[in-house]
Amino acid sequence: MAIEAPVTDFPMIIDGRPTPSSSGRWIEVRSPATREVVGRVPDGTADDVDRAVAAGRRAFREGRWSRMALADRVAAMNRLGDLLDRDADELARLETLQTGTSYKLRRESDFAFASDNLRFFATQIRNLEGKAAYEYTGTHTSFVRREPIGVVGQVSPWNYPMWMAIWKIGPALAAGNAIVLKPASATPLTTVRLAELALEAGVPAGVLNVVTGRGDVVGAALAAHMDVDLISLTGDTETGKQIQALASANLKRVHLELGGKAPFIVCADADIEAAARGATAGALINGGQDCTAATRAYVHRSVYEAFLARTAELFDGVRVGDPFDPATDLGTLISDTQVARAAGFVERAQAAGARVVAGGYRPAVPGLPDGAFYRPTIVADCAQDSEIVQDEVFGPVLAVLPFDTIEEALEKANDTRYGLAASIWTTNVFTAMEAARTLNFGHVQVNDHLMVTSEMPHGGFKQSGSGKDMSTYSFEEYTQVKHVMLELTGEPEKGWHYTVFGDKPAE
Ligand code: NAD
Repeated sequence: MAIEAPVTDFPMIIDGRPTPSSSGRWIEVRSPATREVVGRVPDGTADDVDRAVAAGRRAFREGRWSRMALADRVAAMNRLGDLLDRDADELARLETLQTGTSYKLRRESDFAFASDNLRFFATQIRNLEGKAAYEYTGTHTSFVRREPIGVVGQVSPWNYPMWMAIWKIGPALAAGNAIVLKPASATPLTTVRLAELALEAGVPAGVLNVVTGRGDVVGAALAAHMDVDLISLTGDTETGKQIQALASANLKRVHLELGGKAPFIVCADADIEAAARGATAGALINGGQDCTAATRAYVHRSVYEAFLARTAELFDGVRVGDPFDPATDLGTLISDTQVARAAGFVERAQAAGARVVAGGYRPAVPGLPDGAFYRPTIVADCAQDSEIVQDEVFGPVLAVLPFDTIEEALEKANDTRYGLAASIWTTNVFTAMEAARTLNFGHVQVNDHLMVTSEMPHGGFKQSGSGKDMSTYSFEEYTQVKHVMLELTGEPEKGWHYTVFGDKPAE
């Protein structure tokens, strides 16, 4: 195999040092657009996980981070935000190289938002919440301490490699934990850079360790590790089930951000232009490789054809091409496997009687003949119980179905094993409020889709996972609450001791 460009190695970061794997092997990371090798990472092992967990445990036990002066910890997190901004061009470029998605999206979306996420979490350390201290027994003062959990394992996906890593490390660092983070093996490069930047920002050695390698080796070893106190995954629902089972070895806490199948309900009174634009952005963000992407549009029969026609026009106008071309809207998917997966869903839906009204094929992109491209695709008239409506495609594919009553639309929207995100498009406030109450999803939006904010929780119901990313809720998940009681009387014999030994004291 010929490697044309000089390949950069990205060793893992364990205890603050660049570290090869005990396996001696390396994994090549290839661009899904050009197929060139764009970097190499160590092919990590369970031994590497042991070393990283031990480094995290040492750092935690010594209080290198959790007992650092608060102002210094906050400053280090804010500095990391500054370094992400400083290096945003380079990092977004690296992200585009390994994911094939457009540089425009990476630079103007993920990397514009990631540093804000970190700075938000830095504020959380200064705003601890809990019950007020009080003499609840009458003879003791009780108060609550909110403490870090210890060593947390975190496993991140390939769709937003750096951004999902930030969502994980932000609350965990803010709470004072030590971390062992495992990026997806297709997209580990920016996560290694993140650990380097954390050291530059003043996060002590051993606090943020990155172990690269395969999910079923490194991820599984982390999930099963007896000295890891919490395991957090952003990934597929099936991976979540495996991790939850492995985590039972020491009953570690489990935090799962899993798959989604977001419904997108367009009512008869909706602004159709806004809904069509919302569906285009919502379905095609990151090539549809987004857990909150709009995947199932339920459209009132009276506006069904009008919505389809306008949305198809917008889909057809989306420019698929070289990820680094500023005029490109959509780059590649992550791999040929992902393209074949999307195409398979579309072909089987079509064979079952659905209608393809946009896309549905691999386009030829000049200069990039082997790129993993797939045209933005709309499949209309899908059946509610079909796989394209029930399963995660994770590609630029929108399934569309008509409905007659809002009750029917809400019922069909809820008819899924997932529960991450949903949206409804209506100008009727009563319909909007009823949908907000009825839709069984962790995030419901009215007249928009995809918006997130650092201050508000992101997380799934049902098989989309448990626990929240972002917001105070996420910070709290990386803490544990301790009740401290101080006895106030100083009396050797307490009024209740006789219930255990001796006689009841005279009144
Ligand atoms: P994936 O589950 O294949 O991989 C995620 C991570 O888990 C990777 O680092 C992988 O190496 C690791 N892994 C795989 N098998 C493992 C095992 N047996 N034990 C431990 N770790 C293992 O997911 P993906 O394909 O990288 O990402 C796409 C999925 O992530 C989609 O389902 C998407 O909906 C979901 N996702 C969810 C959110 C959310 O916030 N809920 C956000 C982004 C992505």
